[in-house]
Amino acid sequence: MGRNLSRGILFFLLPGGALTITMMVIAGRPELAQTLSSLTPFYPYVTVAVALLLGWRFDRSRLVFATAVIALCGGLLQQFGSRPDAAGRIITDAITVLLPLNLALFSLLKERGIFTWHGLLRWAVILAQPLAVWLLLHNRQYYWLGVFDTPLISAEWLTTLELQQPALLAMAIALAITLYQALRQRNAMENGLFWAVLLCGYAMLGAHGHDLRLGLLASAIVILVIAVIELSYTMAFRDELTGLPGRRALNQSLLKLGGRYTIAMLDVDHFKKFNDRFGHDVGDEVLKMVAAKMGRISGGGKPYRYGGEEFTAVFAGKSVDDALPHLEQLREAIATADFTVRSSKRPKHKPQTPTSRGNQRVRITISIGAAERVADARDPQAVLKAADKALYRAKKAGRNRVAS
Ligand code: GH3
Ligand code: MG
Ligand code: MG
Repeated sequence: MGRNLSRGILFFLLPGGALTITMMVIAGRPELAQTLSSLTPFYPYVTVAVALLLGWRFDRSRLVFATAVIALCGGLLQQFGSRPDAAGRIITDAITVLLPLNLALFSLLKERGIFTWHGLLRWAVILAQPLAVWLLLHNRQYYWLGVFDTPLISAEWLTTLELQQPALLAMAIALAITLYQALRQRNAMENGLFWAVLLCGYAMLGAHGHDLRLGLLASAIVILVIAVIELSYTMAFRDELTGLPGRRALNQSLLKLGGRYTIAMLDVDHFKKFNDRFGHDVGDEVLKMVAAKMGRISGGGKPYRYGGEEFTAVFAGKSVDDALPHLEQLREAIATADFTVRSSKRPKHKPQTPTSRGNQRVRITISIGAAERVADARDPQAVLKAADKALYRAKKAGRNRVAS
């Protein structure tokens, strides 16, 4: 459990968090900040181009939209941000409020394409905002534009911050939304959006020079680009249903095996019957349950989803005799687990007796075959085949057992 937590925290912090903190440190040191500023406009342009190209090629609409929003804000700041008049100030304030809120919105929306109807609607929402601000400015509607800089509460300490309260509120809302999404979804893109909001907020709220501000906004895009690359890696190597590493990851780690090792093949018993009886969706739930138990396998076994209802565990540096007790433990953990099938025809009212007709307890069992590297099975593929043969023996011997 502790290992899982620290892994989760590390996944959240790397690389987005590390990059955000690095950029903040750079911005805080005059000589480093000078170097970053001198990269403008080259660095922002290259970043935006790379992000748009990658988002388009990988069909990651959220990267495209987030990049477009940040780039649009950067462009408007470039044009109007340093103007000393009311318009310059109002535009900067509007960007400070709207940028984090838009990024938070993308963390709530699904990938729905860039040029689909959903995509076009999103483009419209993005472009409507600067248009609305421009129209209000043009018609001197300062009452409405006041939303960007009106103090919301009168607190002494807030006025000393010299920051607009709507901007602070927008930042807080955006950080809360993206943090919630990152914790809930545990995926690289959601993490990236949280750090991008934080870095954009730091860029807008801090008293930075103009070029430095653009450099920081560009770095927020870099965070999102890295997130998409990481997400693509995950999609290639992890099985989507169970979250375990998939066949490709197994093949890659088999190539790295040497010396002593044991490979175990696991197969759910009578799974076809189970699927036929309860349906494919319930079957998928079973696979998730088995995968969750496999994720907690002891003895240093590394779990993979081989395909379908078959799983693989690799014990590097272990003999079959070393691995057997851990496999036996896993078999038993699954055989004794409570798996409740919730019927779709559940009774309307809660039944008096706990053994309701609606829910049905079923027993899931697995069979396991294990083999180690020996003289006539020297390479991992041969060992895997031997494990498969052992699995077949476990099935023939009556299932719900481990064979080697
Ligand atoms: P045995 O005890 O001999 O292993 O019997 P079995 O029915 O489990 O074996 P078999 O290989 O004949 O059937 C595997 C079944 O697994 C076929 C298919 O219905 C089911 N299956 C394969 N992949 C998935 C999946 O991703 N989701 C679900 N729900 N079912 C799957
Ligand atoms: Mg099978
Ligand atoms: Mg089976």
